[in-house]
Amino acid sequence: MATDIRDFGHAVAAFFDPDNPAGRPSYRSKRGAQGFVIRDTKVRRLSRRWGAVLVPKCGWVRFRWTRALPGKLGMARVTLDLAGRWHVSFPAPQPALGRQPAGAVVGIGRVVRTALVTSDGQHYRAPRISDRRAARYLALQQRMARQRKGSAKREKTRRAMAAITARVTDRRKDWAEKISTRLVQQHDLIVFEKLSTKGMVRKPAPKPDPDRPGAYLPNRARAKAGLNRGILASGWGLPATRTQQKAEASGAAVTHTDPRFTSQQCRVCGHTDPGNRESQPVFRCQQRGHTDHAGANAAKNILARGLATASSCASPGTRGVRPHKPERSAAGTTRSAA
Ligand SMILES: [Zn+2]
Repeated sequence: MATDIRDFGHAVAAFFDPDNPAGRPSYRSKRGAQGFVIRDTKVRRLSRRWGAVLVPKCGWVRFRWTRALPGKLGMARVTLDLAGRWHVSFPAPQPALGRQPAGAVVGIGRVVRTALVTSDGQHYRAPRISDRRAARYLALQQRMARQRKGSAKREKTRRAMAAITARVTDRRKDWAEKISTRLVQQHDLIVFEKLSTKGMVRKPAPKPDPDRPGAYLPNRARAKAGLNRGILASGWGLPATRTQQKAEASGAAVTHTDPRFTSQQCRVCGHTDPGNRESQPVFRCQQRGHTDHAGANAAKNILARGLATASSCASPGTRGVRPHKPERSAAGTTRSAA
């Protein structure tokens, strides 16, 4: 999203640059998240909780001071999210986390759609939308379908829906921050699967109405599950992304392995069979009868693959763990104050 004429200039130049072809600059959406950049940022502290930032053509605008600002202020980014909340963020390099390298390694699986499972058998369940809020959201969705496009009432409905999803996505972001910090603090090598978002968001299957051929019954439970998955899919890569950024800044390593058959392969004997998945949570090896939690079994496969690739391309070290030197500070990570 081009935020001003300078950004637009860069976007156009990149689009026509034969060495570095970029996508066509996209139109600004009237409805999507909005934002702009302030250059030569000036900030004033008003109190312990409040600050003010100088917005060109607008003057001093107050903001809630939620965390320490970077030492040197560069740009500031002002955004309006879909729920109608304004934020200002001040880009800063990712600070290093305090950690003691001890050679610990971990694999992270995503077998269950709504949780991360580690090779140690630890489960991290992603925050979900509550049943009550999901029902409210689906009711609003139906109301919006009846409202005239472009009307003020429809916009009000859209805002209310966005407020519901924002609540869950906020909690998911917080969840990702906590998990990534813990993973980087406790491990020297963290292995994720390469994320494929294909097939993650499926539409709920239509249920035919027995009384009226060709018509369909409402499928609320599936719609609710679909809603959860939709929200999840948009932020599913976040734990891995934040882990990577924190690891780079803190001297830990992150690799991503091929996810194929990690959930069907037996960690003990290597037997790979789709029948090994007895049920969603249970793994049972068809050849020798090894059992494990399905997620933990997959996470152990992921870890083994990560270790194999890490040791084949790194200098000998602690179990093939390559000390990862940050090549550049994790620019683009932002600290935001809202
Ligand atoms: Zn086995």
